[in-house]
Amino acid sequence: MTGYSSEELLGQNNNILKSGEISADIFTDMWQQLREGNIWSGQLLNRKKDGTLFWDSTSISPLRTDTGEISHFIAVKEDITERLRAEEQLRMVAAVFETSNEAIMVADHQGTIKVVNAAFERITGYSAAEVKGQNPSILSSGRHDRFFYNAMWESLNTEGCWSGEIWNRRKDGSVYPEWLSISALHDDEGQITEFVSVFSDITSRKEAEANIRHQAYYDALTQLPNRSLLLDRLEVAIITAERDQQMISVLFIDLDRFKYVNDTLGHEHGDELLMEVSKRLTQCVRESDTVARFGGDEFVILLHNIQSDRDAALVAEKIIRKLSDPFTLAGRDIIIGASIGLAMYPGESDDPDTLLRNADLAMYRAKQTGRNRFQFFTSSLQEHANTLMEMEQNLRQALEHGQLEVHYQPLVRAQSGRVTGVEALLRWHHPTLGMISPDQFIPLAEDTGLIGPIGQWVLETACQQISLWQQQGLKLYLSVNISGRQRNLGMDAPLLHRILQESRLEAAQLVLEITEGMLLENSEETIAWLQSFCDLGVHLAIDDFGTGYSALSYLKRFPIDTLKIDREFVRDLTLDNEDALLVEAIISMARSLKLRLIAEGVETAEQRNVLFSLGCEFLQGYYFAKPMPAEALVAWMADYQPIRLS
Ligand code: C2E
Ligand code: MG
Ligand code: MG
Repeated sequence: MTGYSSEELLGQNNNILKSGEISADIFTDMWQQLREGNIWSGQLLNRKKDGTLFWDSTSISPLRTDTGEISHFIAVKEDITERLRAEEQLRMVAAVFETSNEAIMVADHQGTIKVVNAAFERITGYSAAEVKGQNPSILSSGRHDRFFYNAMWESLNTEGCWSGEIWNRRKDGSVYPEWLSISALHDDEGQITEFVSVFSDITSRKEAEANIRHQAYYDALTQLPNRSLLLDRLEVAIITAERDQQMISVLFIDLDRFKYVNDTLGHEHGDELLMEVSKRLTQCVRESDTVARFGGDEFVILLHNIQSDRDAALVAEKIIRKLSDPFTLAGRDIIIGASIGLAMYPGESDDPDTLLRNADLAMYRAKQTGRNRFQFFTSSLQEHANTLMEMEQNLRQALEHGQLEVHYQPLVRAQSGRVTGVEALLRWHHPTLGMISPDQFIPLAEDTGLIGPIGQWVLETACQQISLWQQQGLKLYLSVNISGRQRNLGMDAPLLHRILQESRLEAAQLVLEITEGMLLENSEETIAWLQSFCDLGVHLAIDDFGTGYSALSYLKRFPIDTLKIDREFVRDLTLDNEDALLVEAIISMARSLKLRLIAEGVETAEQRNVLFSLGCEFLQGYYFAKPMPAEALVAWMADYQPIRLS
């Protein structure tokens, strides 16, 4: 045990075994006991001959002589190092067993529960005493069938283990998911002696998974299904409809004026509006239909199993009615509205993407023909879209092929009738379609980004023309229309500066006309963009004023110095009708904001008179001259006899 031979030990002091690793108090106590004639027993950490330590369970008894004196001590020693280590190991295992977060259950080979740990008690709600001697089936939830358990036993018997997800029932009756691993323990003969089951409650993991799934398939703001889920459902709906000979309809809904709300009232109210819209939409359909948020202010509704187009049309009508009721936001009643496009299955298309695209196309058409309307997809719409695509390709070539031309329309002073400037207006001579109006191709140019190069070309061409006239002794202001889309398409202050320099025009001679719509989008960036032109000394005008949503507060935020009253107000203008009141109000507002005023679309002498008497300083319209090519304008100017008003 000690590694020493008896020869080596005989005659030695028993200190030879001392390791110096235990407290001297033990020895003090030992000697005291022994001297008093008692037996001492205890555990000593001693050292073997080879230097290693061992636990020595020692029992020492004194031997006395007849006279009662202690003559010898007899020590019986046992090396208990291994036993202590094993005990330590057991203690550790027991601690792990008790402190584990995973429930542990040991059952005998017949499945009778022998022992469970604290986590088991916590997760299942049963105490160790309650389950001891029971069968684990007291935990079963009833959610798994015979085959499930058969497969589990099969795996345990053949492979000795099983793991997987299982639904169990707590003592209080609640059912929860757990991740369970069972191992079979075997004896030396290979017979199963015990089953050890380890499991954890995975309710929260399941919830997290469900959450992630929800995020992937639902819109965070409205909680409606998103584009991905819609596409999934649409795919399934098409298959089901085909199998069951049913009809489905896809409604593509785009809110009118949503951007306006977002920009004027702020995003929070924009979000509020979207949530309210999603509520109203959900109320318009059956539980089994799908209302999805497609993105931004676009929603898509999938109507299952409908009888006819008429059913879909009725739903569309209902939606339009519901959405045209005012919304209360920021304490105000806000009116929006919606345009809806419908596509049917079976119909022109049979796959989800095409159905959606067709519904979108129909929506676009509905929007174009006036808001708060719905429109079914038809093949003629498809043709229209194809024509547009063809137009787009043609427009791309128009610049290179010299099919674009700038016409000029004079601007005159209301009182003197004298020409002070011209507005540059773009024309497209299409090789087969003839002259195409800018109202038709400018939106297309904007949609395709072609407005970038085209807008730049107009600006360069018109500036050079004005510069040429100036060299011939004719000094004019130049108005050029620009589109908000040009902001991200190369139009900026350095470019404008260069164009002005190259044509040797003063910045103050140039007026850039923007539409009201531009003021509504992207305010901060747009303001900075416009301000950069203003800083060059260029004037900025609002075109078609009065047709959009311009509010005074808007105008103040933008570096605008000119208003052009839309010709809609001028059309029916006589001194004693309502239009006159409106124009008068616009004029007095412009005055108070120190804005210059131009009236568009003046076609008669009476309109000129009325506008002059109301205080409008500049006029433009067919009454004076139509837009015309540069050469024609020169000829017209030579003939023109201004008539003075007094
Ligand atoms: P706008 O800037 O308001 O231009 C005035 C429009 O009114 C012109 O139409 C002009 O021909 C028309 N007009 C002028 N006087 C009268 C009149 O007395 N009676 C009637 N009924 N109409 C009159 P046009 O040339 O067809 O241009 C339409 C619009 O296209 C323009 O409206 C402008 O917004 C846009 N546009 C034209 N050229 C350009 C351009 O180079 N760039 C951009 N971004 N837009 C342009
Ligand atoms: Mg204009
Ligand atoms: Mg205009």
